[in-house]
Amino acid sequence: MSTSSSSPSIPYEVFRKLPKTDLHVHLDGSLRLETIAALAQHHRIELPAEDPAGLREAIGCGNQFGSLVEYLRGFAITLKVMQNEESLERVAFELAEDAHRENVRYMEVRYSPMLHTDSGLKLTAVVEAVLEGLRRADRDYGIVSNVILCGIRNISTESSYQMAELAVAYKNRGVVGFDLAGAEAQYPAKDHRDAFRLVRANNINCTIHAGEAYGPESIHQAIHVCGAHRIGHGCRLRENGDLLHYVNDQRIPLECCPSSNVQTGAAPGLANHPLKLYFDLGLRVTINTDNRLITDTSVSKELYLAHTAMGMSFRDIKRIVLSGFKSGFLPFHEKQALLRQISKELRAFDHAPPSDINASAPSSHSPRSEAWEEDKNTDNKPQSQPPH
Ligand SMILES: [Zn+2]
Repeated sequence: MSTSSSSPSIPYEVFRKLPKTDLHVHLDGSLRLETIAALAQHHRIELPAEDPAGLREAIGCGNQFGSLVEYLRGFAITLKVMQNEESLERVAFELAEDAHRENVRYMEVRYSPMLHTDSGLKLTAVVEAVLEGLRRADRDYGIVSNVILCGIRNISTESSYQMAELAVAYKNRGVVGFDLAGAEAQYPAKDHRDAFRLVRANNINCTIHAGEAYGPESIHQAIHVCGAHRIGHGCRLRENGDLLHYVNDQRIPLECCPSSNVQTGAAPGLANHPLKLYFDLGLRVTINTDNRLITDTSVSKELYLAHTAMGMSFRDIKRIVLSGFKSGFLPFHEKQALLRQISKELRAFDHAPPSDINASAPSSHSPRSEAWEEDKNTDNKPQSQPPH
């Protein structure tokens, strides 16, 4: 792996140790291969392969698919083993366990309950099973996870509304947001505006996959028609400077998933990924996995790649880490307490990897000079969205 600066890169292990968030991670794209194989065997489910190596091949983990639609094909395999409560509880627990092992401290797991009813499971049973798995991980490891429910663009607007109703029913019970996923081109977010109206009317946060497989118009629609508080990916935001400045001014966080973007063709390569441009322009960027299994990644790996393949300094990486904690759909005071704790922990890393720090650290070491402190209050105010 090449480095884009002359200074030696920070070891991967340091990125593993950093406290982190994952705000954009799909449950059905983040299973362990061994678990898929075991669940298929136990429930006698026929899959294209029986062992982890064959499943890896069949799903195309880490492959460059060239389009979002091709990338999404692997989900047909994972969804087959996610059709009963026991399996859902298990994969949710294991996802949080894997995240905990790389020191992810706060995670927002997203999925669409309607995709887990093939065997007749009730929607509420699906939601409860996933929440139970995440709660078990919290009890065992202390990793805090919340859930974002998704409507799917290419299924139907009625089903999106149904998922929105479910999000309302589970508000304050583990569900903190609503999202729109699926094929972006030809399926505009505005068609699903009723679902978003319902969710916003109940004071629930929204994020929308936008600017991944379609242009900046899609991001504009997500923000101004659907009232998105965060944007998933936003790769093509760079094509519209005016909208880019609006996103920056409103501090609308971008949930960047660099490796996934290369896989789907949303970004031509890591070196050309817009993340660094957005960061340098002052946008609130966060780094996430999207799909641990299908993208064959982890948060640590994505941060490491931002450092080694995108030329971001370790200091920049720490600011992005803190942006993740700032951007979570958490109550304000809870978030402030978490931010205080994480800022303190991040400062301890100032002395860990000396080479890069010396090259990019501010000259003064007073706490107020730390970039992640500067906008801690103003950045956490809720974004106002125009009513529609
Ligand atoms: Zn996604």
